[in-house]
Amino acid sequence: MYAEGVAVMAGRIRDEDIALVRERTAIADVISEVVTLKSAGGGNLKGLCPFHDEKSPSFNVSPARNVFYCFGCGVGGDAIKFLMDAEHLSFVESVERLAARAGIQLRYVEDDRSAPRPRPQQGQRQRLVAAHAAAVDFYRAQLTTAGARPAREFLAGRGFDRSAAERYGCGFAPDGWDLLTKHLRQQGFTHDELVTAGLSRPARSGSLIDRFRRRLMWPIRDITGDVIGFGARKLFDDDDGPKYLNTPETPIYKKSHVLYGIDQAKREIAKQGKVVVVEGYTDVMACHLADVPTAVATCGTAFGGDHISVLRRVLFDSDERAGEIIFTFDGDAAGQKAALRAFEDDQRFVGRTFIAVSPDNMDPCELRLAKGDLAVRDLVARREPLVDFALRHVIGRFDLDTVDGRVEAMRRAAPLVAKIKDREKRPEYVRKLAGDLGMEIEPVQRAVLNAAHGPQAGGAAPAAPARPGRATPAVDSPRSMVEREALKLALQEPVLAGPMFDAVEVTDYQHPVHVAVRAAVAAAGGVSTATGGAVWIERVRDACDDLAGQALIGELAVEPLRIDGEPDPRYVSITMARLQWSSVTGRIRDLKSKIQRVNPVSNKDEYFALFGELLSLEQHARALREQAAGGL
Ligand SMILES: [Zn+2]
Repeated sequence: MYAEGVAVMAGRIRDEDIALVRERTAIADVISEVVTLKSAGGGNLKGLCPFHDEKSPSFNVSPARNVFYCFGCGVGGDAIKFLMDAEHLSFVESVERLAARAGIQLRYVEDDRSAPRPRPQQGQRQRLVAAHAAAVDFYRAQLTTAGARPAREFLAGRGFDRSAAERYGCGFAPDGWDLLTKHLRQQGFTHDELVTAGLSRPARSGSLIDRFRRRLMWPIRDITGDVIGFGARKLFDDDDGPKYLNTPETPIYKKSHVLYGIDQAKREIAKQGKVVVVEGYTDVMACHLADVPTAVATCGTAFGGDHISVLRRVLFDSDERAGEIIFTFDGDAAGQKAALRAFEDDQRFVGRTFIAVSPDNMDPCELRLAKGDLAVRDLVARREPLVDFALRHVIGRFDLDTVDGRVEAMRRAAPLVAKIKDREKRPEYVRKLAGDLGMEIEPVQRAVLNAAHGPQAGGAAPAAPARPGRATPAVDSPRSMVEREALKLALQEPVLAGPMFDAVEVTDYQHPVHVAVRAAVAAAGGVSTATGGAVWIERVRDACDDLAGQALIGELAVEPLRIDGEPDPRYVSITMARLQWSSVTGRIRDLKSKIQRVNPVSNKDEYFALFGELLSLEQHARALREQAAGGL
């Protein structure tokens, strides 16, 4: 079924051993290492497919049948196939990895025609991982030597004690040209393996020397916990190298995918539906130790598309359960640039993206050192939506006291608003931007629409709906439609609408023209005072001082109601409940966003007050929903 023939070259694994590996491997456990799985019913599990980009989980795992299958892209198979595809392993490497996991000692069949081998050759990945594991032990032992004192001082100076250093496997690369290389060669690793692993490199003389020397070492693990590379920090002034040196690209170390700390953080990330992206090894350590266990960092590269893919799968970032991504960047120029770049990436997450900037420009490690664990947790709690940060940064570059400055700031900021994923939030940001710029809403709205439709729409042709004044509100949104229906009842059936209509306040209407008509009804004495007919409609029209409102009253007075047959009290009740429900859910949305912006640590009272308000509104919404469903 699979290309098992490739195993011949390396000494074929015995068939019964392969069968045993399949039998002893729980596929859900293997896949859970890289993809967060949730119940899909019927004993099956689902997650976001690691083989194609998706927003709704179509990747299914059947623990009972020990197979996976993606309905999105059609990839499927057993655990061996999963590792081959997900980790780009050969068949042999996959089997070896699963065997090691299950504690199975593999036996190999030698090919008769080839020369006998001293011992079966393992797959390359396995060998490179083994070399790294041996290197970790070597560096760790070196950390206790006299020469490693600057490394120990560095750690202590950053607030990391011995147990923290041990938890992260910190070590020291000693002085000397080839101490690690010799040590690993003695353990049986070949010249080629050490070069391929990135642990050693050939000197001009041709002999092998260590890649890392006189540096503090952090082992970098993949999501399953295997060490695949190192990060090395400079300790000595006469070291000419860069401050941080990382393992180069190797068959197992791809810096565009690697996230430092993901092996320790992944369970909490999946559980909390939240990830904190920090900038360095010490920041990850500081966050974890400060009880922010969801922190990870990129290693020697900017946060990019592959990192997003890895995190989305762990977050289960989907339509059903959007994740929360919190970036911490320095407040300096480089950090701001990184934040703006993250805004571009933001579009790939379903979930919401936030930024947490320390007021003193301290990174999490410095913050923990200066102000303690609580300050680190507080930094994360004080996050703000990334788009707010980006807008402030863009606007901040212009002089808003001049017309030119305001117009230019609007032009630069509009594309950011146009990119906000949640369309419902755009009008809110248009208003906010107009307020921040000190401009009218209309030009800002036009600029955002132009940006949304691309530059071609911004030419000579009038871009947005260029209707003069405020005409009839669109009837395409459910909310607008129900407001319209309520006003029709008030104008056409005032006796029926009566107190039920009057009891719903003008503030429950959203569209400005609808608000004007509702206010006119009140100014005309309210529906309860009306007897109906043309006189009533004229009275309302006279009471309306909004031109668009007056036009709409004429329209609504004759437009048929959206009900077959005669309207009855039940229909009025349902309509008014739907209207209020829209307004209440809008208020719930605003409240949730407000709660999001309140720091539960430092503003505990406000947080709980808002939370209480939210609970009662939600209760109200449920009652309205029942009423809207037809119960009087
Ligand atoms: Zn797929």
